[in-house]
Amino acid sequence: MTVSSAFDLDAFGRRHIGTSPSDHGLMLAELGYDSLDSLMAAAVPTSIRMGDVLNSAIPPAATEREALEELASLASQNTVRTSMIGLGYYGTVTPAVIQRNVLENPGWYTAYTPYQPEISQGRLEALINFQTLVCDLTGLDTANSSMLDEGTAVVEGMLLARRASKSTSNRFIVDADLFPQTLALLESRAEAVGIELVVADLGEATDVADLGEHFGLFVQYPGASGRVWNPASVIAASKAQGGLVVVAADLLALALITSPGELGADIAVGTSQRFGVPMGFGGPHAGYMAVRAGLERQLPGRLVGVSKDVAGAPAYRLTLQAREQHIRREKATSNICTAQVLLAVMASMYAVYHGPRGIRHIATQVAAKARLLAGWLEEIGQHVAHDAYFDTLRVHVPGIAKHVVERARALGIDVWEADDATVQVSVDETTTWEDLQAVVRAFGFDDAPFRAGSGSLPNAIPEALRRTSSYLEHPVFNTHQSETQMMRYLKQLADRDYALDRGMIPLGSCTMKLNAATEMQAVTWPAFANLHPFAPAADAVGSLGLIEQLETWLAEVTGYDTVSLQPNAGSQGELAGLLAIRGFHHANGEDERTVCLIPSSAHGTNAASAVLAGMRVVVVATDALGNVDLDDLRAKIAEHAETLAALMITYPSTHGVYEHEVKDIAQAVHDAGGQVYVDGANLNALLGFARFGDFGGDVSHLNLHKTFCIPHGGGGPGVGPVAAKAHLAPYLPGHPMAQRADHSGGFVHGGGPVSAAPYGSPSILPISWAYVRMMGSEGLKQATATAVLAANFVASRLREHFPVLYTGDNGLVAHECILDLRPLTAATGVSVDDVAKRLVDYGFHAPTMSFPVAGTLMVEPTESEDLAELERFVEAMVAIKAEADAVASGEWPADDNPLVNAPHTAESVITGEWTHPYTREQAVYPVHSLVRGKYWAPVRRVDQAYGDRNLVCACPPIEAFA
Ligand SMILES: *Cc1c(COP(=O)(O)O)cnc(C)c1O
Repeated sequence: MTVSSAFDLDAFGRRHIGTSPSDHGLMLAELGYDSLDSLMAAAVPTSIRMGDVLNSAIPPAATEREALEELASLASQNTVRTSMIGLGYYGTVTPAVIQRNVLENPGWYTAYTPYQPEISQGRLEALINFQTLVCDLTGLDTANSSMLDEGTAVVEGMLLARRASKSTSNRFIVDADLFPQTLALLESRAEAVGIELVVADLGEATDVADLGEHFGLFVQYPGASGRVWNPASVIAASKAQGGLVVVAADLLALALITSPGELGADIAVGTSQRFGVPMGFGGPHAGYMAVRAGLERQLPGRLVGVSKDVAGAPAYRLTLQAREQHIRREKATSNICTAQVLLAVMASMYAVYHGPRGIRHIATQVAAKARLLAGWLEEIGQHVAHDAYFDTLRVHVPGIAKHVVERARALGIDVWEADDATVQVSVDETTTWEDLQAVVRAFGFDDAPFRAGSGSLPNAIPEALRRTSSYLEHPVFNTHQSETQMMRYLKQLADRDYALDRGMIPLGSCTMKLNAATEMQAVTWPAFANLHPFAPAADAVGSLGLIEQLETWLAEVTGYDTVSLQPNAGSQGELAGLLAIRGFHHANGEDERTVCLIPSSAHGTNAASAVLAGMRVVVVATDALGNVDLDDLRAKIAEHAETLAALMITYPSTHGVYEHEVKDIAQAVHDAGGQVYVDGANLNALLGFARFGDFGGDVSHLNLHKTFCIPHGGGGPGVGPVAAKAHLAPYLPGHPMAQRADHSGGFVHGGGPVSAAPYGSPSILPISWAYVRMMGSEGLKQATATAVLAANFVASRLREHFPVLYTGDNGLVAHECILDLRPLTAATGVSVDDVAKRLVDYGFHAPTMSFPVAGTLMVEPTESEDLAELERFVEAMVAIKAEADAVASGEWPADDNPLVNAPHTAESVITGEWTHPYTREQAVYPVHSLVRGKYWAPVRRVDQAYGDRNLVCACPPIEAFA
């Protein structure tokens, strides 16, 4: 490879890749190679290397301006009409102060999941605000943050009911008045795990005894048809026979109607989209789930709690993590890893900004507009189906529904054709007087506009269901209602956190690379942001075109035939891929193939996803070099030959090495009739050099929020496309409301959905599109090579201080390296935790801790860091090693040294008497030159166990922080 066009003066690659060609010379010399080419030739096994550069499917690199022009041209092919389609997606106003200071602020969007609580207090506070918002509005005790969308949250609610119910029945009763996409999700997910769905017309008069035994029951509240009814007696009766009740509730409606908790529900789920998060043609948005007391340990997803630091000060942290996949694997409460943090932050801030009175006002206005519209429609002789409703009107128009929808479209409005006799119209925060008048015209009334005041019907929320309980009384929702206060609150929280805007985040397996400003630009363009996910195909030409191009490019770089962008995270891509394998075996009449082989070193989501796909996990051992133990693998294949469904293998391995045997392994699985799932979250080590499809993979997921530059958002959003060979295409996720049946290459995806929206989270796809477009195939290859160079450079520099645990050919690692701290811990008592927290004092985010091997740190520098930052990290690690040695030599006592006391807050070095055997300067400016733009941790080390024992997962009283 020559120094390519990626480094031309006007090339984007030069900005994306942090090191320059002359840096590469220095770094390669350190490693003993004379070119990136020779390094990659030595690192990547020849047996898997692809021949030529990526073919013509990927156009040559565009400049930043060219890429934006092309995106603008795609955007111009969308037609954004006023959407009154509803079905869980509504127009909303993103307060500008939130758009600018959260959504468009790298201090928020480039942060990682808050596993290191000391450097994440800002986003943890925002998330606990989200949990408080959800608890308050749903009337339940504990809420998580967050779910991937409403539809999958309903599925998780069903699975939670299954886990927690004592009933032996496998039946789940489903309210017939539910969103169609939710029904499709329930159907495909229930089938995979052997749950029988019973769809029933539920109402106040329903005799639950007639529904038979069941472990759970689901109510949509208000109903998909807009109906507001009181499910209290149905809930009580279901619970009395041993069921748990899941209610999907509209958060805005809950400002006016009685909460699910007060009605007796065990679990409430839904979406927070209409709290200031644009529809985005489907996503991303934060789903929510809340449970009554006693079920909190069963909650899927992440939960923020209050604990305290070593000084006794209150501090936030992720709590009850022991429920999660990285610990519990196939017994985890769900496979959700990346969630929707950035969107949960936005929704919580919408509530912080508007406060309880503002939220009630918005809800009241929505309800009033719906009443006004209903009144007008009745005046012109239309029949509105329900007397009690919040925002959605169902209108019977036998035989002319299509005609009404077309008339509305001509007037600039999309309404929903529920069937040929029924039209639905949903009103939202953005609906104007003119919109309402246009709707009336669409129903056939052509006269002059209505006058204000005419039409309006009395309150459409029955007296008995009007909300009387209060909500959002905590001071945080009653303090920041001027824009100045709001701006400062957001700044104050962002300042507590360490994100990529401060320095490197060398988290192995997470690929924290640059999220370029140009890539982010189109996310908030109205033409992409304001499309409803079920808008007619003709309105979404630009978005569908962008999706098709991205599908084509991703198929090309992975060596597969077809790609689905529907999964909303890597975990959901895994599930989609495994469900496709299941569908394939079933179609071949091989229902008995249910065993999924998973190496012990695999990411925890793999095992959790396999269980959700109805498979049985069999663990394969790892050998001393960190590779899959071939003997054990062959033995397990032989043992389960008749029932083998799949092998799930990560490439390069989670140990950061290129395994040689992968082709043989794939062959052995195929010979036994199994399918090969290659976890492609580590594609950053391979892109442009080898393709999963070429070395035996049948299906893979990628993480666009790792390799393809979608920012981590503090723990989501994500996109986890699933890519597969042609034989699996019919079983990839489809969707009943998809605008297009076929995908790039003409493949039809016929499986059940894995997300509520047909294309998952399209509003963030322009990020990955722009990355590929601006890098071109040569730039992508350069990025891979420089990422591998950076990892090997760091490994080489640190090797004499910390052993590098696993290496492949020629002593090289792939894109990340595992530093083994166990010898150090054994010799000095200094733990991985101590080193990770001490890095904070030096101004760094810790690498990945104790994954995939306990007692180690996994470092992934990525291609985006510059040489000075890499050097700074190396020096910090070397200095920390020297500090540990000083503990070992007895210079500092084991229980009082800068490592065990890290991180040091400003307060801890300023106030009170200094009693430690090291100086204040050693505490906070250990190597002065390394500590640039000093980051001060806002809390000292957080007591993890205390928070689990004393569970507080909503906003604590303000006095706690005084
Ligand atoms: C990150 C990762 C996943 C999970 O991805 P999410 O988007 O967090 O669900 C799965 N496998 C591997 C190897 C990963 O690194």
